[in-house]
Amino acid sequence: MSACIFCRIVAREIPADIVHENDHVLAFRDLRPVAPSHVLVIPKRHIDSVREAETDDVELLGHVMIGARDVAQKLGVAAGGYRVVVNNGDDAGQTVFHLHAHVLAGRSLVWPPG
Ligand code: AMP
Repeated sequence: MSACIFCRIVAREIPADIVHENDHVLAFRDLRPVAPSHVLVIPKRHIDSVREAETDDVELLGHVMIGARDVAQKLGVAAGGYRVVVNNGDDAGQTVFHLHAHVLAGRSLVWPPG
């Protein structure tokens, strides 16, 4: 059994509110949403973060971004706009070390982020 909580969601060992899935990515609602729409898009293959990405991971990273696009379309937030955030490492506030893109929408998002 994997120690990675997101790998365990991919393996259906723990539940999640899944909104999108294909061969490459899984997307599910964040447990503690910070926007009316807050979904995490993760690659099914484990990688800790962008920091650890290799050039050969270019397709995996692309699938995460296209997954974010598909999620925004499915949730009906694409036209209004949405933010895609990837936290990398402690200073960025990353808490789960399985790469994930936050898709945030449904309210006006300030810039710069905190
Ligand atoms: P980050 O701080 O960028 O690493 O984001 C991790 C996110 O994962 C946080 O927003 C958490 O609320 C979310 N999270 C942690 N565990 C779960 C889970 N089991 N299901 C859904 N979201 C989770």
